[in-house]
Amino acid sequence: MINYTTVTLSAPSTTPSTAPSTIKFTDLSLVEPLLCALNEKNYTEPSPIQAKSIPFLLQGRDLIGIAQTGTGKTAAFALPILQRLAAHPAPATPKRPRVLVLAPTRELAAQIQQSFSAYGKFLKLSSAVVFGGVSISPQIRTLARGVDILIATPGRLQDLERSKHVILDKVEVFVLDEADRMLDLGFVHEIKRIITKLPPKRQSLLFSATMPPAIQDLASSIVHNPARVEVTPAASTVERIKQHVCYVNRHDKAKLLVHFINQHPQGLVLVFVRMKHMANKLVDQIAKDGVKAEAIHGNKSQAARERALSNFRAGHSRVLIATDIAARGIDVKGIALVVNFDLPEEPESYVHRIGRTARAGLDGIAVAFCDSSERNLLRNIERLIRRPISVLKGHPLEASAQGPREPAAYAGSGIDRPHRPAPRHGGFRSNSSSNNRTAPRTGGVGFTKAGFARSGSSRY
Ligand code: AMP
Repeated sequence: MINYTTVTLSAPSTTPSTAPSTIKFTDLSLVEPLLCALNEKNYTEPSPIQAKSIPFLLQGRDLIGIAQTGTGKTAAFALPILQRLAAHPAPATPKRPRVLVLAPTRELAAQIQQSFSAYGKFLKLSSAVVFGGVSISPQIRTLARGVDILIATPGRLQDLERSKHVILDKVEVFVLDEADRMLDLGFVHEIKRIITKLPPKRQSLLFSATMPPAIQDLASSIVHNPARVEVTPAASTVERIKQHVCYVNRHDKAKLLVHFINQHPQGLVLVFVRMKHMANKLVDQIAKDGVKAEAIHGNKSQAARERALSNFRAGHSRVLIATDIAARGIDVKGIALVVNFDLPEEPESYVHRIGRTARAGLDGIAVAFCDSSERNLLRNIERLIRRPISVLKGHPLEASAQGPREPAAYAGSGIDRPHRPAPRHGGFRSNSSSNNRTAPRTGGVGFTKAGFARSGSSRY
């Protein structure tokens, strides 16, 4: 059993709302070069996770952070790490980083490295990111020169470690980011192996959006006497997003997508599909209706993934069709509409997907397409978010869709059926009060051992 110092915070939204008190970054004992970098980024007030985590981390405490991407958690760990390294300067040792950050996806790893560079702009520290899908040789050369901070995805790190191009015995700070996603993607063995290569005396941080038993087990093998900081679970951070569901026949979904894209001429449109091949197919399908889109998924080369993302970010392609690889961690401003073309099997993915919109204080719209085979998935999502998603009536493809089974009183009345999501089993906790830190999964999707085996990166 782990002993915790627990700090529970009320909700930030999908963008880091600042702390409820009037705490400023200048109150957090951060050194001048970091304050200057924050100033350049126009960050004045820390988000709740930053305000609460930074003091613990500056004391050298281990930490469990229960927070999703979008809460400002990268700065919450990057700032104190940079401060710690700067306080004990040492020349970078070839192959031996002082900090190791593990992230589940290449995109997130790259984003974390950009954050370290930005926040550490006025410090003489080096960072590098390594991930698969690109040539390993430049990574080997960078590591051979020596870097202070290494951000990595587990697979490529394991390759580099096995071939002794990186040696982890001098790691002072270890961060495991998005631990629940890591397990979803089947990285548990790599992570466990990497931990055995780290020195026992180190500062360890683990971040996860949810804290099911499997993550708690993993946490107990990583952290020691951790502080625990929590922001509202992912499931309740979606209030600002206008959410709708459209009942539609499967074969009409592409036409309905074109309709919505044309209805939203402003802003970026991010479309989520379940399978990689569907992402490519959909790009071709909507092209026939004159809509230009790009796809991003795990079968694309890293260069193609980066190109698609940067074209989207820059607005060169307004529509991006993605698998769940883009559901987390991707921070693109100006996404006006998120379309769940397929409903995700894991209801948590819905929350992460729609969280790509309504960022930076803006409103956003999320539309889910639900065909007759997806009703259970919709119910699981509604249970998780503990609210019904309003049914969009009168869309052009509605007539051909088999409507939801309605009670007689509502059938044909044009009134949205009053969804009443079933109460959440397993005691989903309210925002900030409970000591039950587990946000249990619903719909038979769980972090069971079988679940790890079943999941894997291949679908994305
Ligand atoms: P993260 O959860 O770390 O992915 O951060 C989400 C977004 O919030 C990123 O674009 C950050 O650059 C931004 N951000 C982080 N901390 C702050 C802050 N204190 N004030 C304003 N924006 C922030």
